Amino acid sequence: MKISLENLSKVKSGLFPSISIKITMFEEIKFASIITSLIDYPSHVSSVIFLIGCNLRCQFCQNSSLWIENNPLSISSEYILEELEKRKSFSRFIVVSGGEPCIYPSLPDFIKYLYNSGFKVKLDTNGLNPDMIKRCIPYLDYIAMDIKTSPELYVLLEPKVKWKLRQFYELDKIQKSKYYRNKILKSIKLIMNSGINYEFRTTVVPGLVTEKDIRKIGKLVKGCKKYVLQQFIPSKSFKKELRKIIPYSERDINKFAKILENFNIKEVKILL
Ligand code: SF4
Repeated sequence: MKISLENLSKVKSGLFPSISIKITMFEEIKFASIITSLIDYPSHVSSVIFLIGCNLRCQFCQNSSLWIENNPLSISSEYILEELEKRKSFSRFIVVSGGEPCIYPSLPDFIKYLYNSGFKVKLDTNGLNPDMIKRCIPYLDYIAMDIKTSPELYVLLEPKVKWKLRQFYELDKIQKSKYYRNKILKSIKLIMNSGINYEFRTTVVPGLVTEKDIRKIGKLVKGCKKYVLQQFIPSKSFKKELRKIIPYSERDINKFAKILENFNIKEVKILL
């Protein structure tokens, strides 16, 4: 039996106790796991939900098990929703992460459902789908967007082979750069004007992120509330070659932080 969004909250609250309902509305979304976290939602204990799939293939990805083809880990939305209800006694904060959650057309409905159920929701995104971000913002409490490097270098991050934009492969390097730049700038603008809590963050991968890139990023997010610089952990990289790279020193990352502070950013945080 399918039910409307409106009635689902009644079902969950026991107003329709005699009806055996199978929740089917979010079955399109593939969930990998749910964990409890002390660090993913600033200042709160949270439940982090990992969604399967991504529209990028970052070579340094530390969650590549989430986008490897035919991933066998998918669990049902019914299980996830029941688990969140059970956790309500100790946490009403949820992080929707991945992979890239914005690849799912029903993501805004899912987040709206969580919002209507009394949860505070944070979305983790790579920012490549600004239209989806726009639809989610009304139901979000917090959004964290990754900025991988300066926009023109996004061409180095290989997009997903099954990505719908097949014509993308026919674009030349300059056109691809423009494509990424437009998406990233649009998402940054939306987030900075959203009125909700937010942060931008970069994993400082040597070779992909240099001082020059940090300056370019600084210009894009000038005056933003919060920027997080995250240390790169080579051993977790998807690409074996990257596991041998020596990460930036703490001194180097502090230098990056100082550069960002010059762009009137309220808080620059370093995660080592
Ligand atoms: S966008 Fe995130 S999840 Fe996707 S490949 Fe890159 S690092 Fe991994």
